[in-house]
Amino acid sequence: MRIILLGPPGSGKGTQAQLLVQRYGIVQLSTGEMLRAAVAAGTPVGLKAKEIMASGGLVPDEVVVGIISDRIDQPDARNGFILDGFPRTVPQAEALDDLLRHKHLKLDAVIELRVNESALLNRVEARVAQMRERGEEVRVDDTPEVLTKRLASYRSQTEPLIHYYSERRKLSTIDGMMAIDEVTRAIHRQLLALGAVEPKTHAKTHGKSHARSAAKAVPAKTGAKKTKAAKKAAKRPAKMAKKSAKSAKSAKKAVKGAKKAARKIAKKMVKKTAKKAVKKGSKKGPKKVTKKRAKR
Ligand code: AMP
Repeated sequence: MRIILLGPPGSGKGTQAQLLVQRYGIVQLSTGEMLRAAVAAGTPVGLKAKEIMASGGLVPDEVVVGIISDRIDQPDARNGFILDGFPRTVPQAEALDDLLRHKHLKLDAVIELRVNESALLNRVEARVAQMRERGEEVRVDDTPEVLTKRLASYRSQTEPLIHYYSERRKLSTIDGMMAIDEVTRAIHRQLLALGAVEPKTHAKTHGKSHARSAAKAVPAKTGAKKTKAAKKAAKRPAKMAKKSAKSAKSAKKAVKGAKKAARKIAKKMVKKTAKKAVKKGSKKGPKKVTKKRAKR
């Protein structure tokens, strides 16, 4: 599965991407994270990006497109990925279309997290406070001033992607103001509706079957009451066997019927040809026979 998470800074893209990673066993490709790592490592890309990022601007398209193209080729991305923070401009989206086409990969969906902008500042402030509490390093671009600039750049450069992907029938919009788990559920429902995930994909089960997850719900060795789900799962194989036996029976019946009909038709045909032969025989039959017999 390959999806894009679209939304302004503070809309919860990163949080949702992490939850989706756990749920579907795919990787999160965040250009922001990759760039921060490059800055920390002091690579040429990092040196180029450092100032731009600190001021809330956008790193040049060719830089991020190159990073993403290389990352998609890594073995862990083979199973699928979530693009978080990329693409951010229409030229980046066009470059992504090109590189996916070259790699023979298909994009399943673009999920837009729509949020109330006035709430974003509060969210980012809360996030910063929590990070400080945990003693984590706070991002240099997580200040109200820089956030205002990042929001402005989202509006002018990234928002046109909503139109870009809706025109290509890829866009699904979800209310990002709901509680975190409600947003996750809404994304899952959307992916189900699009056929991007299988119905059996439950949270944290990485696609294990109903029966297996239901079996997990049965208390081990205690002989205690089975849960409803476990009972249902246990009944499922018997139900399926009954169903297939039923359909085998009706198939047998159908074959029998067809044979009977064929026999009837054959009988009719034999009768008809016999009648014809008798008629013919009465006209020329006996003459020919007597001739042949006379020769012998
Ligand atoms: P993020 O973590 O997605 O909020 O990104 C942090 C910063 O990294 C952004 O404010 C940009 O300066 C830079 N950045 C991340 N992704 C991109 C991108 N796709 N294009 C340009 N700049 C980016």
